[in-house]
Amino acid sequence: MKRFVIFSVSLLVSSAACADASSQARVDALAAAVESKVIAWRRDIHAHPELGNRELRTAELVARHLRALGLEVRTGVAHTGVVALLRGSKPGPVVALRADMDALPVTEEVHLPFASKVRTQWAGKETGVMHACGHDTHVAMLMGAAEVLAGMKADLPGSVKFIFQPAEEGPPPGEEGGAALMIKQGALDNPKPDAIFGLHIGATYEVGQLVYRPGPVMAAADVLRITVKGRQTHGSAPWGGVDPIVVAAQIVLGLQTIVSRQVNITKEPVVVTIGGIDGGNRFNIIPDKVEMVGTVRSFDERLRDDVHRRIRLTAENIAEASGATVEVAIEKPYAVTVNDPALSERMRPTLERVAGQDNLRLAERRTGAEDFSFFAQQVPGLFVFLGGSPKGTDMSQVAYNHSPRFYVDESALLLGVRTLTHLTIDYLSGAGK
Ligand SMILES: [Zn+2]
Ligand SMILES: [Zn+2]
Repeated sequence: MKRFVIFSVSLLVSSAACADASSQARVDALAAAVESKVIAWRRDIHAHPELGNRELRTAELVARHLRALGLEVRTGVAHTGVVALLRGSKPGPVVALRADMDALPVTEEVHLPFASKVRTQWAGKETGVMHACGHDTHVAMLMGAAEVLAGMKADLPGSVKFIFQPAEEGPPPGEEGGAALMIKQGALDNPKPDAIFGLHIGATYEVGQLVYRPGPVMAAADVLRITVKGRQTHGSAPWGGVDPIVVAAQIVLGLQTIVSRQVNITKEPVVVTIGGIDGGNRFNIIPDKVEMVGTVRSFDERLRDDVHRRIRLTAENIAEASGATVEVAIEKPYAVTVNDPALSERMRPTLERVAGQDNLRLAERRTGAEDFSFFAQQVPGLFVFLGGSPKGTDMSQVAYNHSPRFYVDESALLLGVRTLTHLTIDYLSGAGK
């Protein structure tokens, strides 16, 4: 009897392990079969880039594909977003996968047969439009992942929500958009996902690599607007007015001491940058006001608030000392992107298996920002970087994301499809739970 029990348990274990290995092999076979389509979609989207909230053609391409796969498709979410649901044949949790769809006002300088020739007006100037952040690859990989997972519907223990998001780089001035608006319009409702995964292709990593970090991985990005108001007068007689240019200069220098003298940078890095100063129009006129714009980057919400408080304090007190007034406005378009520690730990074996142990790297924190952060505030999230530069690239010379010379080695895309699909299947199957 005892022997029989042991025998049957070992049979059960080995058959479960076999089912796992065979479903993994099936995912890989389906992913390999869809690779050439993913590359073709990517080239098509790359040749037809669209700015944030204007991704009409891209959204149409996505929706048509998802409908053909038999998914329940909702369009027009947050202007041009597409949300689709794949219901597996077995009950189980809900995983969301997210791709962003927007391009940038950048004029492409990469010589490719499918290089973008699109031109538009941006901020009053004519410019090219380019997928300089690689969101074309994100859309194509998620379309591929949808096809793979739809092909496994009969065995899928749970549901998959596909979120194709507009305007990750920010909506046009005066418009709402991006992840925050998608959430407002119900992208995470009915059903609410139990976990969300996202990928970003990166120029600073080689093809074949996956790079991730548990906890805070990308910064909150705030927009800082400071208006210094003085009193206009003749440049030859500054005592007749209040000079906002000198006050603005003092504020710029004063702000430098927040990071260098006031914050414990051994705990959390912070960046405060003034990126623009605008005031005055003639050599002998002291103007009424100076406007400055800048950004704050941080990885911790409490420190973020503290730095905002110090910026206001510094600007207001410097202005007051000179008889000027100041208005400080801080917008918060991007939150800290936090990879849920438990989810990161749970999915690490999947990432390691899919990329190979030597190809899974721990990311450094990045002071760039991602509006995936808003999804990850609502649902445990994991955001992974996918290597996009050819093997052997000299990373000191590489063109970063957002450069007109940004280049993606398309052999990266298969790993992206495999990563999205294996993360989904493993999570739904309860692996590592
Ligand atoms: Zn970007
Ligand atoms: Zn991006």
